[in-house]
Amino acid sequence: MDSSNISVTCRTCGRQANAGSFVLDPDFKKMVCPACVKDKRSRLEKDRRDKEKLKNHLESLADKPIGWDAEDEYLEKVAKPKPKESIELSFPSAGEGKAKYKCPKCSFPFVYDINRRKPSVCPYCSDPIRKFVIKN
Ligand SMILES: [Zn+2]
Ligand SMILES: [Zn+2]
Repeated sequence: MDSSNISVTCRTCGRQANAGSFVLDPDFKKMVCPACVKDKRSRLEKDRRDKEKLKNHLESLADKPIGWDAEDEYLEKVAKPKPKESIELSFPSAGEGKAKYKCPKCSFPFVYDINRRKPSVCPYCSDPIRKFVIKN
């Protein structure tokens, strides 16, 4: 008996196909009929074309920045994190009304005069003095 002449139903698509024409497909991870393989190929081809189309679309957007600015600005507003005022810094005391401040930006340590509010910025990187608490 020649098995290649037996028609069997494909478990993937339900179509009938010649038993001998079934192939083990690495994507389906099972035996599928030639129609399934064809379907898969055309689907992959379509995916590729869709990606190509999207790419072209994005490139055309880059070429013509009409309406792009507004969206850009919107995205920037959404993405921009709020100023981190809530971070509670704490530094040890450096005597009466003074603190051993350490710049959170550049880690430069210096003595901050709380009463005179000096210096007003980090002497090293000019980062404004943040709110902090004295903690010994
Ligand atoms: Zn099939
Ligand atoms: Zn600094």
